[in-house]
Parts: sequence; C-alpha cells; structure tokens
Amino acid sequence: MTLTPELRDRILASVEAGFDDQIAYLQRLVGFASQRGEEFAIQDFIFRDYAARGLKMDRFEMDEAALTAHEGGAPFSARHSRAPIVVGLHHPRDETGRSLILQHHLDVVPVGPREMWEHDPYGGEIEGDWMYGRGAGDMKAGAAANVFALEALRRIGLQPAATVCLQSVVEEESTGNGALQTFLRGYTADAALIPEPEDEKLARANLGVLWFEVMVRGIPVHVREMGEGANAIDAAYRLIGALREIETKWNAEASAHPECDGIDHPVNLNIGLIEGGDWGSSVPAWCRFQVRISIYAADKAQAKLAEIIDHAMAFARADSFLNQNPPVFTQNGFNSEGYILAPGSEAEQTLERAHETAFAAPLESFTTAAYLDARVYALYNRIPTLCYGPKARGIHGFDEAVSLSSLKKVTQSMALFIADWCGTENI
Ligand code: ZN
Repeated sequence: MTLTPELRDRILASVEAGFDDQIAYLQRLVGFASQRGEEFAIQDFIFRDYAARGLKMDRFEMDEAALTAHEGGAPFSARHSRAPIVVGLHHPRDETGRSLILQHHLDVVPVGPREMWEHDPYGGEIEGDWMYGRGAGDMKAGAAANVFALEALRRIGLQPAATVCLQSVVEEESTGNGALQTFLRGYTADAALIPEPEDEKLARANLGVLWFEVMVRGIPVHVREMGEGANAIDAAYRLIGALREIETKWNAEASAHPECDGIDHPVNLNIGLIEGGDWGSSVPAWCRFQVRISIYAADKAQAKLAEIIDHAMAFARADSFLNQNPPVFTQNGFNSEGYILAPGSEAEQTLERAHETAFAAPLESFTTAAYLDARVYALYNRIPTLCYGPKARGIHGFDEAVSLSSLKKVTQSMALFIADWCGTENI
C-alpha cells in the first residue's frame, strides 16, 4: 500500500497547520513535573485529553507480582512509581488496515542542580528552533507527536482504518515496568512505533540494561583507631574498581556483537549515586552506591548479573576489609535484555517511505546503548518495533531541548506512516 501524492501533500500540510497547537501542547506537557513517582498529574491530564479526543480509555495500576514474575520485569523498590498507566484506543468503523501501538513514556530524570540550567527546567521556553525543559526531548515531544500525527489525519476528515493504541507509560527511566505492564494487560498490535528522540533515525538495535545497588558495611570507629582498610567508603572505591574490570572485559568482546560495529565503548558502567558515612571524624561504617551497566543484545540479564556478582565477590574475598564485611548486591531496577530489529519488515519499509517524503532523505538506522521500552514489544509482543523520533540535546543533562523543525518533520513522517500502515477511512 502506498499513499497517493495528493493524500501525502494533504497530510504534510495538515501537520503544518496544526503545529502551533502541537507546540502549545508540548509546552503544557513540559510544565508538569513528572520525575519518578510524580507522574499522577500528567497521566491524569493525558487521560482527560485522550477521552476528550474520543478515544476509549483504560487506566490501570502496575501489578507487582505479575511484573516481578516476568523474565523482563524489574524488582520493585521503595522508589518505584505507583502512577497509573493510561491507554487510549481508537477503533475504526471497519477494521481493514493493520493495527498499531503508539507508545511514549512521561517519566523524566531528575533536573540536577538548578543553577546549572540557563532555562527553567519546566518552563518550555522557546529560543530559536529549540524548546527547553526536562523531558522536552525525552520524550514529551514524542508524546505530543503521537497525538498530533493522529490529529493531522482528523483535520482532513480521516481516521486510521485499524485499531490504534496510544499507550502512555511511566517507569521507563528506571525499570521499564510500565511498558511491560501494557503487554501483561494484553495490549498488542501488528507493529509498534515509539518516538524517542533518536536524531531522526531508526533504532536498529538496543543494548540491555541492569541496575543494582551495592551496600558495604563495617564497624564505626574513631579515626585514631582506624586500621588500614577499615573504611567502608575506601572499600566501596576498591569494589568499584573491580566492577570497572568487568566493563573493560565486556567492551573487549564488542567485536563478537555485530550490532555494535563502529561503537567505541558500547558497555557503559555508570556509578550514578553514592552515599556513605555519618560524620567527618568517624570512620565510615557504611557506603551504598547505585550501578547501571549495559549488556549486549544477545545476552541474558540474569546470567550477566550473576557474572558481575561472582567477579565482585571474588575480589571481595581477597580484600582484607571486604573479606570480613562482604558487600550486599540488590537488584533495584532494570532487568532488561536488548533487541535487534530484523531489517526489511513491511513496517520498516512503510516508515522508510514516510521518512523520505517528509525529509527528502533516506532513513538511517543505528544501535543505541540506552534502555528502550521498545524491547518489550520486540521481545515479548514479538512485533516489528520502530523506535524513531526527533533531534534533541541535553537529554539527562542540563538545558535539555528538542528541535522544533525536526519535531515537525518527524510528526509529518509519523502521520504518513499511520495513514499508510493502518489505511484510512472517512470520519
Ligand atoms: Zn526516553
């Protein structure tokens, strides 16, 4: 199926005509503080907004028992979000086309020190081609694109001729449990499209991600009694060194993973948070740190976690302090395997056509080492999963921003994709 040139032009013009509204909608989304555990208000906004647009609504909680029993589920910690998942369903009059999931996540990472931002992290300020704000790129721009790609069709009197599920999730930045819950709820389709800020490219492959916390404990003493190596913070540093050995070893294996061709350092170990000790003149009795590491797309999450713990415990047994005070490992987030998108699917070909029309350039693909919810649809729904979206910068950093010209073209490409993939019928 391909679109007629006349319909293509009407769709492109319709996205253009609605783009001011799309920018205002995106600013509204950026204005909601939606860090982990705070996403209730924005999900409530989405629920009411989708209902007003005529979608059939479903809102549900995450099921801790079902999620943790699933091989791709992550353990719950005290910080796990309790915000609901929201799904809006479009049903056509005649189901003649191919169905589609459009997904986004609305949780955002912390803003960090406010003084490091030039722009208000929740202001949605526009300067030149860029809209600033935490989540502007990752991925509230994609959330707005999901809605306005469909609106562009509606503006010219059309709607998809197949079921479309708009899935608004949370917990993407820490566990991926939100996307997994939509699968456990039973939602599926003939393809999924997730407009993450992918620099106008298609994610061909995605590495898996593990999160865990390490606790090192000792016995507190005054500094004058401090024996060599009796300091829990010093011991934690030594243990981090042992974890860096794993990172080096895994990176040296990159050539065995063709999806990582051309990527210098695919496996990234991040010590994202560290705390310990109680007082400047007391030898610290405890130190806790948070670790994130990537694993290759072909690797099993639990086997790789076991490899890490074995290596760290062997190091600990040879360390005079850690030998007496073995570190405790707790998995407290991502338990996620990566995926490789098989090239040449009809869904991908459809996106290639749409992208070429919107950008007048061929669609490129690449491998990303970041976590993607797309893994749920690729691994468990087992459907073609297209992770593709606008240019952004400062993601997870300061002055995060999305390119508005890029967002417009991506939205045009998405609207063309939906019309082509699902087919259209008159409203
Ligand atoms: Zn994201």
